[in-house]
Amino acid sequence: MKLQIIGTGGMWHKEASASYLIDDHILIDMPNGSCKNLYTQGVNVEKIDNILITHFHGDHFFDIPFYLLKKSKEDELDVNVYCTKPGKKKIETLFKLGFPNASKKVLKRLNLNYNFSANFTIGDYEVSRIKVSHGDFKPAYGYIFKSKDLTVGITGDTSYCDSVEHMASICDYLICDCSLILGNESHMGIDDIKKLATKYPDHKFVTSHMFEKTIKEAKKLKIKNIIVPNDGDYILKGV
Ligand SMILES: [Zn+2]
Ligand SMILES: [Zn+2]
Repeated sequence: MKLQIIGTGGMWHKEASASYLIDDHILIDMPNGSCKNLYTQGVNVEKIDNILITHFHGDHFFDIPFYLLKKSKEDELDVNVYCTKPGKKKIETLFKLGFPNASKKVLKRLNLNYNFSANFTIGDYEVSRIKVSHGDFKPAYGYIFKSKDLTVGITGDTSYCDSVEHMASICDYLICDCSLILGNESHMGIDDIKKLATKYPDHKFVTSHMFEKTIKEAKKLKIKNIIVPNDGDYILKGV
């Protein structure tokens, strides 16, 4: 697996909003600023044909219209979006709002499919969607990617909950919401990630969705199984 951290941040600082790319073609979340960020990092957007959305806060899906418009002008027209049924409606509304005249033509040209299942496969990966606890916002999900020899999880926005505990227990690498220094009912904090890292010493925990003060504090950590990445870093480089 090739796993690239496209963005490590929340809003209102220079780090890009949280988003992750697997094997150059599977993107988890497409937040505000995502397309510019992918472009800046030299990612070939035409290759991206699978978009998994963790939940429908703006900082996780607002750039989808720009992506759909761009894809419709390329040769590779397959787009698979994994989300909820109400989520599909939100994407359609957003797209029409952004590009009212182009939306019909774009949707006709693209081979756009929505998948609402909790379990599905993408290439060699068995993927499962798992409900997490993100304050009052429902539903919010994490994802687990299983291949023959590796399990990788993404918590999405969440507080410390049973689902996170489950993901931490089975994932070799877990990309974690680490927005805060001390976690609350909406987001995890450095305190939660430290707990997980101690409990599962053989598993690696990657911090993400960090707010400005959190990044500064997280960078001071010297814990061997906690990775504090920068935007664009590769956590796994594949074969
Ligand atoms: Zn959120
Ligand atoms: Zn968020």
